[in-house]
Amino acid sequence: MTPLFPGLTEPPADHPALRFGERSLTYAQLAAAAGALTGRIGEATRVAVWATPTMETAVAVVAALLAGVPAVPLNPKSGEKELGHILSDSAPDLVLTAPDDQLPAPVRDLPRLDIDVHGTGPVPGDHADESDPALIVYTSGTTGPPKGAVIPRRAIASTLDALADAWQWTGDDVLVHGLPLFHVHGLVLGTLGPLRRGGSVRHLGRFSTQGVARELNAGATMLFGVPTMYHRIAEAVTGDPELVKALTGARLLVSGSAALPVHDHGRIATATGRRVIERYGMTETLMNTSVRADGEARPGTVGVPLPGVELRLVEEDGSEVTAYDGETVGEIQVRGPNLFTEYLNRPDATAAAFTADGWFRTGDMAVRDPDGYVRIVGRKATDLIKSGGYKIGAGEIENALLEHPGVREAAVTGEPDADLGERIVAWIVPAEPDSPPSLEELADHVAKRLAPHKRPRVVHHLDALPRNDMGKIMKRALPHD
Ligand code: ATP
Ligand code: MG
Repeated sequence: MTPLFPGLTEPPADHPALRFGERSLTYAQLAAAAGALTGRIGEATRVAVWATPTMETAVAVVAALLAGVPAVPLNPKSGEKELGHILSDSAPDLVLTAPDDQLPAPVRDLPRLDIDVHGTGPVPGDHADESDPALIVYTSGTTGPPKGAVIPRRAIASTLDALADAWQWTGDDVLVHGLPLFHVHGLVLGTLGPLRRGGSVRHLGRFSTQGVARELNAGATMLFGVPTMYHRIAEAVTGDPELVKALTGARLLVSGSAALPVHDHGRIATATGRRVIERYGMTETLMNTSVRADGEARPGTVGVPLPGVELRLVEEDGSEVTAYDGETVGEIQVRGPNLFTEYLNRPDATAAAFTADGWFRTGDMAVRDPDGYVRIVGRKATDLIKSGGYKIGAGEIENALLEHPGVREAAVTGEPDADLGERIVAWIVPAEPDSPPSLEELADHVAKRLAPHKRPRVVHHLDALPRNDMGKIMKRALPHD
């Protein structure tokens, strides 16, 4: 297979590759640092990476890929119990760290290798096979304990090339991002993506709207973010001319990891004339669909299947949804070179995740618009409410609630109901904690916008919604759910 990062061995070697804060590396410097580290990884069969948002993490992952040694990125914010589980599950030989990293107990017990981002060594010849495991990435833990997805080199190469096609992504692009580096969004798309294209990454270390404005106004062309970041942008953009200028001038604004609320999409479009495009993926599948750079960024949709990805919607009885009517809901199933190989040490979970003919069951439910655009209605496990004979997606009700001025955040679930089967429950963070909107008002608001049977029957008020480090709402952690 062709090298994952042609820019490490081919000119222009003095092109900027990575920048984290004040520190930056050109392609030649990155090749030397990663080359030196491959020599030190030696005979390891699997390495953990203490994945802080730093240059060290990027160099470590590139080195592991060059050495053909699977890397397991660790979330430094995980608790000791979760880290203990991940280490005993993935059994790395050593952990790659920055010299000043302080490690908690279970990670401290591993042999440690400090990364020198100024090291020099030759880039080894690439002998890996495309089906060899490259990364073991743990899922976000939104619906249950994280599972280790074994991601082959082929999946990384194919997903990044498919995105390049969809986004007209080239070596001239400069990406700004402020995402963590232990999930595929920040690591595969945000770090390996620009390196595969021969372009540049500027990582903010910590996301801020000021940082985004600064980098985009200083020549960055693309922004990758999760919906909570675009929410902060939507809140800040009116009244911030620097941010308006930055977003207006950007080539591409991309959101993913969770649904981008239609309300935030609209606010950003109104303030800047720019539409955020959404892509949809998973740890297990890398990227499945996206709005294309030259396509229409319709709010609430995640675009069309990427080149090479086969996608179908399947109803509960196993029949395929053939209607492109924006209404018939089915589970998204995908097939293609972008897929993971297995869940580590979980043959039963792996077997259950695939159909007999090799399609991966995503657990996400969607409809298709007449032109083929995919519209995710929610997760099968937590977001599909069966009420009064209807199948109702939580997402559209959440979107409608967020349009109400008295609602800051919203999550919708179903709970058992003697009459309806399930009744719709809304969990809201009120904009004004002292005068939250009443159930009647919210029910009326949703009934008018959507349909009467989609109105919430119960409303709970919270100070904040439980979210994980990607800003995803963890519905299983809602009180009484
Ligand atoms: P776990 O599998 O551990 O419960 P998770 O599914 O959140 O956690 P990830 O693999 O990081 O872990 O996330 C994939 C999921 O994120 C998808 O299955 C989908 O539900 C959601 N997702 C990703 N992108 C989008 C998007 N653009 N719109 C809506 N949902 C999205
Ligand atoms: Mg998942």
